[in-house]
Amino acid sequence: MLRFQGTRNWVYPLWIDGRFQRLRRWAFLALHLILFLTPWISIGGNQALRFDLQERRLYAFGAIFTASDTLLLLFLLLFLAFSLFFFTSLYGRLWCGYACPQTVFLEAWVRPIERWLEGERATRMRRDQGPWTAGRALRKAAKWALFLVAAFIVSMAFMSYFAGARELWTGRAGPVEYTLVGIFTVAWFWDFAWFREQFCNFLCPYARFQSVLQDPDTLTISYDPARGEPRGADAKKSGRCIDCKKCVVVCPAGIDIRNGFQLECIGCAACIDACDSVMTRLGHRSLVVYGTLNQLQGKPTRRLQVRTVVYAALLLALAVATGAVLATRVPFEASVGRAPGSLYTLDDDGRVRNTFLLRIANNTASADSVAFQLALELEGLPDAELIAPEVKLAPEEGRLVPLVVRVRAHDVVARTIPLRLRVRSPLGERVLATTFKSGGESGEEERARAEH
Ligand code: SF4
Ligand code: SF4
Repeated sequence: MLRFQGTRNWVYPLWIDGRFQRLRRWAFLALHLILFLTPWISIGGNQALRFDLQERRLYAFGAIFTASDTLLLLFLLLFLAFSLFFFTSLYGRLWCGYACPQTVFLEAWVRPIERWLEGERATRMRRDQGPWTAGRALRKAAKWALFLVAAFIVSMAFMSYFAGARELWTGRAGPVEYTLVGIFTVAWFWDFAWFREQFCNFLCPYARFQSVLQDPDTLTISYDPARGEPRGADAKKSGRCIDCKKCVVVCPAGIDIRNGFQLECIGCAACIDACDSVMTRLGHRSLVVYGTLNQLQGKPTRRLQVRTVVYAALLLALAVATGAVLATRVPFEASVGRAPGSLYTLDDDGRVRNTFLLRIANNTASADSVAFQLALELEGLPDAELIAPEVKLAPEEGRLVPLVVRVRAHDVVARTIPLRLRVRSPLGERVLATTFKSGGESGEEERARAEH
């Protein structure tokens, strides 16, 4: 940990095995598989999950979402935020201990590499406190080189969700993408080589909110002082804690859980497994346990607090709203506007002509082209004539389509008439609002001229 006077207590966590560490390793394996394999899965010819920032599109398991789906993105972000609040109020920092990328990469890559090259805790400490020798320099260099490789692989995996896995890993992505990979690689390397647990202590906003997200009924990792205290080696005079400090030396946050709840604790459960390994030899249960503060104090625990119910209700409401938006979603975009610089013209046959530009994009990823049939609806002017080319769009194709609307001059009595354009397709329909312009009643003379 970084002290305020500027020096850092380097943490040398001892490797520990146990049921929770085995559970974490399975979780890390599953998360690695998801991270590295998902970008290589193809659905409907597109990457299963990809945020194409250039095209401003999200490819998500066969569906394509664009800027017009911002409401869904908002619902998704709110859903994720409230899920985190909900689970934190019930289960504390399970995310930090089992699924946060910071924890996953430190435990799955950094610490094994460090142990492999520099030895276990005692050896690492002795070497770091000793003089710089050729062997120590060589070990450090090899370790940092491997950290750099790990940081690069992690950054490439992360950027695969944005630049496209195939393009990125085969060198076909653009310079911006590779520059970002470089920046992320440097950031991860700095984190792996030096910053580590300080990220949780000083930068992570989620860690900062723990005190307001948790309550005495939240599941946390705690030391049981009723069984453990007074601590000491004399089994006759003391509680069960023999003060072996194994729960302290395994802690990647460098804290002593026996001092009570601390914000630095990431809920990794290493201290539970450590104490378990000591206590089972003495015929007891671990003194560090998963439990609520109320349980430890012998009070009843109420898992369903008011705020938990409120979070659950909000999650349900968001799920229903998202489902409703998805069910009524039309997977194509369309917008219409007047052609730049055009107001209206009077044709030789006495009709008033307006020119529009229809911007239309097919947001499906199916292999078949979808034909968009255009239908026009004019409020109060049913005899309007629409001149439009036939529009057939391939999946993901977008086009600008010129449209001409002509109305008999006698039929237009106002200068601006609300106009609705209905765009029908096999995928659904959209109704677009615009206006038809004419000379209105003041155009009488023009009309008369056109008629003679
Ligand atoms: S106190 Fe225990 S659970 Fe918390 S970070 Fe340390 S070892 Fe992990
Ligand atoms: S590992 Fe258990 S017995 Fe050893 S110091 Fe920690 S709480 Fe006490």
